[in-house]
Amino acid sequence: MRVLKFGGTSVGSVANINQVINIVKNGAQDQHIAVVVSALGGITDLLMQAGTDASNKDDYNTAFKDIEAKHIEFTRTLIPDSDEALDEIKNLLKSLESLLQGIYLINELSPKTVDKLLAYGEILSSSIIARAMYAQGLDAVRKDSRDLITTNDKHTKAGVNYKVTNSQIEYYFTKAKQKITVLPGFIASTANGDTTTLGRGGSDFTAAIVAAALDVDQVEIYTDVSGMYTANPKMVKQAKPIESISYHEAMELSHFGAKVLYPPTIVPVMSKNIPIRIKNTLQPEEPGTLIHNQNGQSTNPIKGLSNISNVALLTLEGGGMVGIPGISKRLFETLSNQGINIILITQASSEHSICLGVMEDDAGKAKNAIDEEFEYEISLNKIDPLTIEIGLSIIALVGDQMKSHQGISGKMFSTLGKNNVNIRAIAQGASEKNISAVIAQKDVKKALNSLHERFFEAQRKQLNLFITGVGNVGEKLLNQIQQQQEYLKKQLNINMRVLGLSNSRKMLVDESGIDLQNWSALLDAGEPATLDGFLDHVVELNQRNSIFVDITANADVADMYGKYLKQSVAVVACNKIAAASDFKNYSELKRLSKAYNAPLLFETNVGAGLPIIDTLNNLIASGDRVNRIQAVLSGSLNFVFNNFKSGDSFHDVVQAAKAEGFTEPDPRIDLSGVDVARKILILARESGLKINLEDIENEPFLTENNLNSSDVPHFFETLKEDAAHFEKLVAQTEAKNCRLKYVAQLDNGKASVGLQEIPEGHPFYNLEGSDNIVLFFTDRYPTQPMQIKGAGAGGDVTASGLFADIIRTATF
Ligand code: ADP
Ligand code: ASP
Ligand code: MG
Repeated sequence: MRVLKFGGTSVGSVANINQVINIVKNGAQDQHIAVVVSALGGITDLLMQAGTDASNKDDYNTAFKDIEAKHIEFTRTLIPDSDEALDEIKNLLKSLESLLQGIYLINELSPKTVDKLLAYGEILSSSIIARAMYAQGLDAVRKDSRDLITTNDKHTKAGVNYKVTNSQIEYYFTKAKQKITVLPGFIASTANGDTTTLGRGGSDFTAAIVAAALDVDQVEIYTDVSGMYTANPKMVKQAKPIESISYHEAMELSHFGAKVLYPPTIVPVMSKNIPIRIKNTLQPEEPGTLIHNQNGQSTNPIKGLSNISNVALLTLEGGGMVGIPGISKRLFETLSNQGINIILITQASSEHSICLGVMEDDAGKAKNAIDEEFEYEISLNKIDPLTIEIGLSIIALVGDQMKSHQGISGKMFSTLGKNNVNIRAIAQGASEKNISAVIAQKDVKKALNSLHERFFEAQRKQLNLFITGVGNVGEKLLNQIQQQQEYLKKQLNINMRVLGLSNSRKMLVDESGIDLQNWSALLDAGEPATLDGFLDHVVELNQRNSIFVDITANADVADMYGKYLKQSVAVVACNKIAAASDFKNYSELKRLSKAYNAPLLFETNVGAGLPIIDTLNNLIASGDRVNRIQAVLSGSLNFVFNNFKSGDSFHDVVQAAKAEGFTEPDPRIDLSGVDVARKILILARESGLKINLEDIENEPFLTENNLNSSDVPHFFETLKEDAAHFEKLVAQTEAKNCRLKYVAQLDNGKASVGLQEIPEGHPFYNLEGSDNIVLFFTDRYPTQPMQIKGAGAGGDVTASGLFADIIRTATF
């Protein structure tokens, strides 16, 4: 004897019903099979909708017509040429329509009527499916579960009378002649013959009741996913089916929202030790999940995560509660009398407040009842009126073996904290099978995904990038990401995705990741860009490990960092403006980065892809002290002075540098030393100094005439006019066998930039092209400084520096 249950989606289309028939056909060799079916997918909700509309005197006919059309179409397609079948279904639909008319007329929908109404879903589906099986040559008959399952009269969630029920089921199946009995799930009846239901999702329960009564070897529940997953697969893409799970764990997960199994289902089978196998109707070859009496140790103490949405938190608070026995008793009794289910309880040890989680729909009723119960204490100001918070969700971590492992709740809360998920309340069952937290509804997806990553994807970490600025460097970065995606997955267990892109005109956001082969066309077709709009998208997507990457040189973009950090979004910037801005702003950004656990990285601000800032930070973190920094940090100036020899025209050299793209469009920004000053400012700050740009000594090598030029062409004119000044500089230097280098320095807390004559033998002397070099003189490197040298400009190296910062955020 086998018991198989097929849920709403499994019977939601003609093709799926044919698949169900195939599964049953293949399984029906010599055993008897009980097939429990749900209503056709979506029908129970539609019935409820029609009933509610009717009772509100609204149009219920629209919903009814949908219900009618679907059942007639299914009947015609699955059982062609059967007038008898069509007549039966039409008659059932007619009586459903009269019931709705009745509800409309009396303007009321009692729980008893709800049961009568919803029962049509399973009555209709079981009739169609039994007849379809028969039409396909199966020895199938339909039996009404209301004749087999007897309950009390607690309508909409009736309690089963197992004694009567078990003997009715046994009796029927010992007599049953046909091989296959199709039973409507979810419905039952009272001893008086009134229709009842077992609660939404209750067809699973029907299967378990039948299985337990018949003492079968296993119940098989067929649904639209391949088992019970480590988290709801519709919320967490990385979730995987759980191979084997204990009754208690399954019960806990389903209680906390894993809808794949209706929680009471476990009760009848657990006492008889009958395993439940959850399988996928569309992929029946997959093993699915086995729920059984499992005691074995598994490697992961956590079995799964689940969540309940639309939760309200009720808080009863007041000085008058302390030390007074019986308050909780009255509170719980009041809720119980109202039929309100309490999902979560926490009480501070001060007994000053009790916090309860209930479904949002029950919150109003709970408040009225509780305020009434404590009316006297409230009037004396001993207890405050009940407060209600809505828009919340409960997330739970479930596993039998959590109790023997330490640090799980710590990991849970630190993961949530890191992702800026605020926890409103926490509860841990004394049995330690479950740790649950109440959080805002909007954070659920992020919370589940981060926890899943932490507890199940051992090492794989997802980095979600939102990139602003797709010029030369941005384009190179996107190429590098695309090229390295597979490598990162395999070697570093990092899944790097670009979810957002923007330039000054357009922006594009895609939750499932932007196709990097085609980003440019996709971005062109994007929506008009605004800085706040882009931030709004990032906040709305609310993805874990989100990183904002700024590859612009724009001050307005730099002004956004604080807003990103406050959302716990990491910031990786190539833009120097923020790090070189006023010290107050810089230190505030650093503070936000710490407070919100969001990395703020800007390695490429100094020396492009060279690991200068990272090295400096590591030196300091390891306890070394930086005494002096000497550096050549301007690729442009280096290029200029490498090419300027005595007898050359300085004007021509600068013009060539500009033409080759080695200077800013306005070369004065490079030649005045401002850019280098910003870089040494950043290094000084990272070494711990509280300094501003004005504190940096900058002795210009340009003439007053150059510096006062009105625009770029005029500047070039002045370079010609002052040719003698530059010739003198270079000739003097060459006479001393030295070379000119533009050097940034930090010595004894004082920073300066300026042109220097570098003698032969000095590490700067042979610096080529646009290379950069930094020398760190520290306690550990007192005379032979630590040197970092290499290309200090260029799209590819800058992009690789950004890439390195992005990877660094993963280890933060
Ligand atoms: P049926 O109609 O077959 O009874 P349900 O819709 O009641 O199906 O239950 C299956 C759904 O449960 C899945 O499609 C999935 O969205 C949801 N679900 C929630 N949590 C889990 C989980 N941990 N594992 C599997 N499914 C889950
Ligand atoms: N049809 C019922 C519901 O949707 C029962 C079930 O599908 O399990 O709740
Ligand atoms: Mg279900």
